[in-house]
Amino acid sequence: MSASTRIVVVGGGIVAASVAYHLTRQGVSVIVVEASQPGPATNAGAGIICPWNDRGDDPAYELAADGARYYPELLGMLAEDGHAETSYARVGALRVGEDTQRLQNIAAMLRSMRADRPEIGEIELVGPGEPKRQFPPLAASLSGLWIGGAGRVDGRQIRDSLLAAAASYGATQIIGAALLDHAGSKVTGVTVGSESVAADAVVVAAGAWTGQVCAPVGWQLPVGPQRGQIIHVEIPGAQTESWPVILPPADPYLLAFPGSRVVFGATRELAGFDYRTTVGGVGAMLAKAMDVAPGLAEATLLETRIGFRPVASDGRPVIGKLADGLIVATGNGPEGLTAGPWTGLAAAALALGQDPPADLAPFDPARFQPGSP
Ligand SMILES: Cc1cc2nc3c(=O)[nH]c(=O)nc-3n(C[C@H](O)[C@H](O)[C@H](O)COP(=O)(O)OP(=O)(O)OC[C@H]3O[C@@H](n4cnc5c(N)ncnc54)[C@H](O)[C@@H]3O)c2cc1C
Repeated sequence: MSASTRIVVVGGGIVAASVAYHLTRQGVSVIVVEASQPGPATNAGAGIICPWNDRGDDPAYELAADGARYYPELLGMLAEDGHAETSYARVGALRVGEDTQRLQNIAAMLRSMRADRPEIGEIELVGPGEPKRQFPPLAASLSGLWIGGAGRVDGRQIRDSLLAAAASYGATQIIGAALLDHAGSKVTGVTVGSESVAADAVVVAAGAWTGQVCAPVGWQLPVGPQRGQIIHVEIPGAQTESWPVILPPADPYLLAFPGSRVVFGATRELAGFDYRTTVGGVGAMLAKAMDVAPGLAEATLLETRIGFRPVASDGRPVIGKLADGLIVATGNGPEGLTAGPWTGLAAAALALGQDPPADLAPFDPARFQPGSP
């Protein structure tokens, strides 16, 4: 492939940014088209990078785990390219609770997974009070399970680093909503406002909007928005840089960023593209967070972010060829900051006709074709 190959990437979230980065790194000419819709998931994502979960052999889990495994390699590439400021930190996670038998069961499950997934890291049960020592707002009664391989990232920052690195390899950006151009069933480029942009291939990584973008070529992809409202607070004077991710048995999860910032949430609502914070959503998150972390009572409320997680009707990611000249990459749902960079790597390979880095059959959009099993 060379700069004479021209690919349009539709979207401005972490997946589109990753597609653009991986394509330009191979010398391809890339144009990113971003509509700046309200509520992109990447802008609101909490940022937990989990190299495991409790869902066993779910293919979406495998994808997220591959995504977490890919992070260190990606960070190394970005650093080589002069973009080391990604905000990623391997801070570890604490599963917390008062049911120590449950924590022991999870520890046993994770230990059995670790042979194949060494990135899960250290696994250690800790007694009551230790979670509070590491994350001071927590209730003192909580015990925990330490899982060393978890990390956190600011979605906006890693997305911006990927886009900046892609730009340094020659990618350009157009702001506006892309409409697909097609000749029969072959996609030939996009139109943005009055501008037509021809392309050898188009990758649509438009998050929860991907179904809408692909509809004109006859596809009714069942991908839509799951609204998440997530709360940011500041604990004046707290040194939060290295606080771990906190995972109670049910939401809200909590995590911290530099600058005394603590983030918790999030709602999971089927509310369409309704870009609003609601009293019910914020109220529920505050009440539940105070149960787990009563020390948040004196924190300063900073903001509530709203994002639309891209979710397919069967809950699985959607990565594959949809038509001649058209690749889609979306549906990472609640794990898209973890799986997004890897998803972009896979979509870039498909756009260039290369073998993807893993078996993408479970994510093939053809499963939504009428008559498919
Ligand atoms: C509250 C919340 C918490 C989360 N927490 C985590 C977490 O802790 N860990 C984790 O791994 N994941 C998390 N996620 C999930 C993760 O944020 C998403 O899965 C991921 O960001 C999706 O990225 P994306 O690039 O597919 O979509 P998006 O970030 O939504 O980007 C889609 C982009 O497409 C653009 N677009 C739409 N239509 C068009 C068009 N016609 N033309 C051009 N552009 C268009 C939009 O403007 C938008 O910028 C969370 C999400 C939310 C909402």
